[in-house]
This record gives sequence, structure tokens and C-alpha cells, in this order.
Amino acid sequence: MSRSSRRYKPLQVNHGGGPISGCDRIRMPRARVLIFCLIAVLMLAVILGICLSYETSGDHSNRLPAVDLAKDRLSHKPVKTSPSQLRRLAAQVDGTRLWEMHLRPILIERLPGTQGSLAVRKHITSTLSSLSAGWTVDLDPFQAPTPRGPVTFTNLVATLDPSTPRRLLLCCHYDSKALPPDARAPEKVFLGATDSAVPCAMMLELASALDGLLGALKQQRPAVTLQLVFFDGEESFEEWTAADSLYGSRHLSEWMARTPHPPGSTHTTLLQAVDLFVLLDLLGAPDPLIANHFDNTARWFDRLIAAEKRLHRQGLLTSHPAEQMYFKKDVYLGPVQDDHIPFLHKGVPILHVIATPFPAFWHTLDDTEDNLHRPTVENLTRILAVFVAEYLGL
Ligand SMILES: [Zn+2]
Repeated sequence: MSRSSRRYKPLQVNHGGGPISGCDRIRMPRARVLIFCLIAVLMLAVILGICLSYETSGDHSNRLPAVDLAKDRLSHKPVKTSPSQLRRLAAQVDGTRLWEMHLRPILIERLPGTQGSLAVRKHITSTLSSLSAGWTVDLDPFQAPTPRGPVTFTNLVATLDPSTPRRLLLCCHYDSKALPPDARAPEKVFLGATDSAVPCAMMLELASALDGLLGALKQQRPAVTLQLVFFDGEESFEEWTAADSLYGSRHLSEWMARTPHPPGSTHTTLLQAVDLFVLLDLLGAPDPLIANHFDNTARWFDRLIAAEKRLHRQGLLTSHPAEQMYFKKDVYLGPVQDDHIPFLHKGVPILHVIATPFPAFWHTLDDTEDNLHRPTVENLTRILAVFVAEYLGL
């Protein structure tokens, strides 16, 4: 049956205990019968009118956003920052805060379901809660089978304004990989500095650096808001397979695919509300090469290239000898399996900001703070600050 059959209640006309029979009509004068019939027809028309208008307004609330969300996403235009805004944005990124306050507390072992994981979650939550923009932080805990038995995972999703129709997503994973210990240094644990402590710290610094601007944006009730997603369980426990990897992103993408948005919609879900899924991973080593992975988001990759060049020309990047060092379109080293995959398969537009080739110390106990390149981390954060500001029109 059509949707309308569920919306309508069957029209019930109560005739006061019995039908209007022929003998009733005989007892009534002709004029009164005519008036009675006229009133009955008018009442029927009014009831029908109410039902029809209810159905029509239902269509507006449920169907139009499906069209609008997609159309608005495709036609979304970034705001180009002026040279003075660019200087202000670059200055708001605080390298010391990024390193000391945001990054250091994440540089611990943080396997899913452990105290380390909980400590990092608390760090992220308390950092975002301390900001004035007013983030809504949601935890998404779930249990899933792994080669090591059932494990409890927890994604963390922070939304600037949950009532906003569309979202720009900045994403990274906060879990660390379970690596076998080194027999020569059994006390060493895998810290995953680039994988992905640095991207998490960069996202916290972006929220801190843009705090005032994000707060002002929220007051304007814009069509697009910012959402920060910290995935758990990106890493596999054993050999990487479709089942043993991407635990958090698979879970969240499925939940978003079945959660109506705007609330009550029967046609659109939180997935359609994602304008762009920007995934940060394997960042923090010197001289990263970041390639464009998807044609349908190439115009947004161009904005990253432009931001790097403009910041360089204004002398706002450090240890950055040429104007285009990180973001390059003319290279492609093949696809990468990462947290974007479950969203990509569901049609979400992806911008994958990942160093390819991977850092030389990838998935080794040497992925530590000592091997990070601080100017690169600060430069990338400045570039992303410009990108976010331009996307959201801050
Ligand atoms: Zn990894």
C-alpha cells in the first residue's frame, strides 16, 4: 500500500446509533432534510481537506530534504579568505597547545576496550567540553566479535550543532594497533604517533583554534555544521581482513544509514547529511605526499592545494621551502583501505588526507614522538584550518 494509506485514519462517520433511513426522511420536512444534507457534505469536505493538507505537508517534510540535501551539497561554495583572514587563521593555530595539551595525552597504548582507550576518550571529551562553542559529544559503544574474542569498542562523535541539516565531517581513528612486543625491548609498546594520534590532536587543535569562529557560526544557524568523528577499532587484531578491521567505522556507518535525518524523515538519513567526509590518517612524519583519491571530491582537494600555496606565499608555513610540498594531484599510489571504506560504499563523498607512501616506520614500534616532524604537523593544521574556515564560511 502507499504511504498515504498508513497516514489516513479510515473516515468514520457516526450516525448516532443507526442509519438515516427512509422513515427518518419521511418524518422530516423537505427543507430540513436539504439543510441536513448540505451540512453533512460540508463537514465531509472539511474533513477531506484536512486529511489532504496533512498528507501534502508530510510530503514536504519528508521528501524535499532528500532532494535539497544532495542538491545543496553539490552546489555548496566555499568562501575565499582574504589575506588578513588567512594570517589570522594561521596565527590561531597554536603549535605548543597542539603538542603539549592535545597530542601528549594521546601518546599512550589505546587498544579498544582498555583503560588507555578510556583515558584518550576522556581527554577528547574534556578538551571539547572546555571550549566555548558548545560541542555535543556522543559516545557510540558496541561489542563486536574479533579474532581475540568479543571486544567493546566506542566511537566518539562531536557535533557543533546537531539540529543543522548538513555536516562537514573531520574523522580519524584513536585506537592503536596491537603489535607483538620486541624481544630486545619488551617494555616498548606501539604508540601510533602518526597512526593516528597526530590526526586526533590536529582535530582537537582545529576545534580550539576555530573556537570563537565556530561559536559565532552556530549563532547564525547555518545549513552546514562541523562534526568530529573519532573512530575506535580501525586497526585489525590479526591479518587485515574485511571482518577484522574498521570495526568502528562499519558500525557508525550502519547506524547513520538507519537513523532518519532530519528527525522523523522517511527518506533521508544521517548519511545523506554528510556533505564531505574528510579522513585524516598517517600524518606527522616529515615530507608527506598527499594525493587525490577521488574524482568526485577533486574540487575540495584543489582547496587544500590552494590553501597550502596561499599560506606559503604569505610566509605562514615553517620548514616549507616550496609553495606546493604536500598536496599533489599528479601522483597516485593506489587506493588505501581505511575508515572511509564503509562510508564510500554507501555513497558518501570522501576526501582522504593520508600520506602515501606511508611513513617509513608505519606499524612499527618506532612510530613515536621522536620521529614526528613538528613543523609539518603545524603546517598541515594551518592548511586544514583554512580549509574548514572556507568550507563553513567562518
Ligand atoms: Zn595503522
